[in-house]
Amino acid sequence: MKQDFAANWPAQADEVITGVQDWRLAHPKATLKEIEQAIDQHLAALRAHMLTDAAMASAAEVDPPRCPQCGDTMEWRGDHPRTLVTQHDRAVELKRHYAVCPTCGVGFFPPG
Ligand SMILES: [Zn+2]
Repeated sequence: MKQDFAANWPAQADEVITGVQDWRLAHPKATLKEIEQAIDQHLAALRAHMLTDAAMASAAEVDPPRCPQCGDTMEWRGDHPRTLVTQHDRAVELKRHYAVCPTCGVGFFPPG
């Protein structure tokens, strides 16, 4: 399990705080509802970062599976990105490992 996946979070949280502050200064007549929406929007960016980093923390350390055809230990090849859309319409890109058998060449995406 990757330990430093949260390393960038303080800097990203600072960006959210500064972003909300700047937005508020630029919108002195904003209503409570508008302020709430602006905060939600800024937090959504941080939320997407945290979700990506937390989800990817375990991805790199998983042992490759056994080949379903010959039983040999498979090898990880590359990262295949897949994009998910989370709440507040933020796109999150998760990289997905592709397992290939060095003996018979079978390849597949393990579930998960
Ligand atoms: Zn095989």
